[in-house]
Amino acid sequence: MSTADIRSRFLAHFEAAGHTAVPSASLLADDPNLLFVNAGMVPFKPYFLGQETPPYSRATSVQKCIRTPDIEDVGKTTRHGTFFEMCGNFSFGDYFKEGAIEMAWNLVTKPVEHGGFGLDADRLWPSILHGDDEALELWMQATGLPAERIVKLGKRENYWSMGVPGPGGPCSEILYDRGPSYGPDGEFATTERLAMPTELEDRYLEIWNLVFMQDELSAVRSKEDFDIAGALPKRNIDTGMGLERVAFLLQGKENMYEIDVMFPVIEKAEQLTGKKYGAHHEDDVRFRVIADHIRSSMMLINDGVTPGNEGRGYVLRRLARRVVRSMRLLGYEDPCLPELLPVSRDKMGETYTDLFTNWERISTVAYAEEDAFRATLRAGTTIFDVAAGEVKGSGGKVFSGDKAFQLHDTYGFPIDLTLEMASEQGLQVDEEGFRRLMTEQRERAKADAKAKKGSHRNTDSYRAIADTMGGTVEFTGYDTVVDEG
Ligand code: ATP
Ligand code: MG
Ligand code: MG
Ligand code: MG
Repeated sequence: MSTADIRSRFLAHFEAAGHTAVPSASLLADDPNLLFVNAGMVPFKPYFLGQETPPYSRATSVQKCIRTPDIEDVGKTTRHGTFFEMCGNFSFGDYFKEGAIEMAWNLVTKPVEHGGFGLDADRLWPSILHGDDEALELWMQATGLPAERIVKLGKRENYWSMGVPGPGGPCSEILYDRGPSYGPDGEFATTERLAMPTELEDRYLEIWNLVFMQDELSAVRSKEDFDIAGALPKRNIDTGMGLERVAFLLQGKENMYEIDVMFPVIEKAEQLTGKKYGAHHEDDVRFRVIADHIRSSMMLINDGVTPGNEGRGYVLRRLARRVVRSMRLLGYEDPCLPELLPVSRDKMGETYTDLFTNWERISTVAYAEEDAFRATLRAGTTIFDVAAGEVKGSGGKVFSGDKAFQLHDTYGFPIDLTLEMASEQGLQVDEEGFRRLMTEQRERAKADAKAKKGSHRNTDSYRAIADTMGGTVEFTGYDTVVDEG
């Protein structure tokens, strides 16, 4: 079943049940706390928070999402994209747990010839928040499954909130058992667990998350520690089903990067590099990163992001540059975006036709970024290689902070590039040393600026990123806007 078919079946199923189909909002969240839309509910937040009155009581959508914290998982797990589409159905004070459970179960198990996904009920495992007896009962009624077939998970996994006082509530998930070759079964459902053990996540694939918004939270200290002040005056439903996850199951693929709208990029990369997908684990990860990041970069530019050194622009820059580096590591040194990007456009453009109308802008921005990155690499790679060679030659393991700083300061190598390249050589970077030099430079610049009062020197843009990173180089800070105060 094509991804497009899954998308339209989802919408049709919920439209038939009285939901208004709402087009995807832009990836650029209209929300000061979010860099990108990372879930289907984001555009509906004002309704859930009671700030605005919805023009409908039921809605359904397939929302474009970006999750930058998942970047490290891309290509390594079977199921994490930086860009993905979340299919959702929403109830604003209308139906609650019973309706949400029935409609979801119905769609996944309904035979293909009747408009459903035709998944085998024997392989599906609902999960609940342990203690949510209401949900347990409703799942048993809707599915005919015994209580032991319903997984009980803790708050970390199955309680939703926005991390601040406001609405919250228990969740249920639908997991799909891919079979014993993907992991152990053991005491899967009978044990009460805080969260899904990692070794089970590839076997029991989470495809759908149902949030039952019912509580008013007065304080949230952590995922497990919060105060429920009372019941919400209006109870809501917010669900999210991963389009690519269902697609890879229904298309009989191993992971989301192999589905119809993504795999052609891998094929193109195979053709360009002469390497085979499926031959070596490390190369395969690179192929999958390429397929994911090409698509994410394209969708970001389409929604108006341009590469830069901060915030959204930096996310785009990092994604695009990772494609270029991954292609080089697979042995392809020529400009690759002009080869790969149109392949992704042709697939994604079947749904997002604006990719064609915006193509000139998208391609110009993307290709210019590759050119700029190629120039950076040309300037700094030899310096890096010589330095790395010296460290290894002397039996060392640590790439000095001095060198990392020099690469950054003179050749414009962002620290994450140095980190990535060093780790490929089996080296660590003296990040502390690097940070110290960065701080010293910053102090000098400040003193300088003070001395030349009023002259606004344009400080190195990377410094701005280092500042927002609070001294860490983890990419994960970009999903939410970091408080710079
Ligand atoms: P996981 O535990 O697998 O990381 P999640 O619990 O973080 O998923 P939710 O926040 O519940 O995901 O999002 C709802 C649905 O969106 C998930 O059930 C999944 O099908 C899909 N989804 C979430 N993150 C991704 C991603 N990075 N790539 C593709 N699909 C995703
Ligand atoms: Mg996740
Ligand atoms: Mg999960
Ligand atoms: Mg979830």
